[in-house]
Amino acid sequence: MQLPREIVIGNHTLDAIPEICLKLGFRDLAFIVTGPNTYEIAAKSVIDSLEDAGFKTDYTIVKNSTIESVNETISKIMSFKPSIILGIGGGKDIDVAKSSSANLNIPFISVPTTASHDGISSPFASIKGLEKPYSIKAQAPIAIIADLEIISNSPYRFIASGCGDIIAKYTAVRDWKLAHMIKNEYYGDYAANLALMSAKLILKNAQLISRRSEEGVRTIVEALISCGVAMSIAGSTRPCSGSEHLFTHALDLTTPNHALHGEKCGVGTIMCAYLHNANWKLIRKVLRKVQAPTTAKELGVEAEDIVKALSIAHRIRPERYTILGESGITYEAAERLAKATYVI
Ligand code: ZN
Repeated sequence: MQLPREIVIGNHTLDAIPEICLKLGFRDLAFIVTGPNTYEIAAKSVIDSLEDAGFKTDYTIVKNSTIESVNETISKIMSFKPSIILGIGGGKDIDVAKSSSANLNIPFISVPTTASHDGISSPFASIKGLEKPYSIKAQAPIAIIADLEIISNSPYRFIASGCGDIIAKYTAVRDWKLAHMIKNEYYGDYAANLALMSAKLILKNAQLISRRSEEGVRTIVEALISCGVAMSIAGSTRPCSGSEHLFTHALDLTTPNHALHGEKCGVGTIMCAYLHNANWKLIRKVLRKVQAPTTAKELGVEAEDIVKALSIAHRIRPERYTILGESGITYEAAERLAKATYVI
């Protein structure tokens, strides 16, 4: 199990980064992976404070999380030879930092500026351009430093997307349990409950979140971190990714560049909860309350894109048994499901 050693959540937490690096035993060269906007919002000041504290720094600005970005970052890191790598930014920046640092066996610190998905804390990275359209093993962050003020000021859509990725655990855990019963797959109660608890927290605090209160944002950040820890404990993405994520990845393939990861997961959860005979109406209600998409239209895709993605989802990752079964659901059944849950 690889778990973070330091988790700091609060306001102005970026100021604490040099101190945390020193506490963890890093004191010379620090490399920062960031994005064009997040450089201005957060990375620039972190670089200054690290330099003030005696660190030598270098940084790269990445625009996407493709394998090319990862390889470019790896060669920059190799020539700088840092002892610590910081991923400062949104999901993409953190994925590139996580993946490149794992490749070089250098610890990395996750500094999220948005709370849009659980990649901010998980040991898995989602890299585009690889054979597999889902997250692959990288490494868990040695520390997570989340500044609530910065995250609160990010577009609300990211926060709503984070809710969708957390609510997804409602069906992911059911799928995991099912795979345990049908396929005798390893099932860990502790990891499963940790993921489920995060989903329950969102159900309970939807009102606070929709008001964008500090407490609401804190709930999301903590829940996302718990999800990452659940994956670290399980040693796989199982507690956090089931049929609803297969649907999301299928939609990524058939209709790329539409909607955020967590937005698609939320819609997938409504439909997969229906298949599980679980309370899909509650999931839909909560997603609507936090103003996350619940329909094809709100995701910006066509009705047939949803039906197609549903009917091919089981092929995305054949070894991951879910409620979709080994042969999936037919096009007609998928259409009926999407209609019954008001997605189309
Ligand atoms: Zn996810």
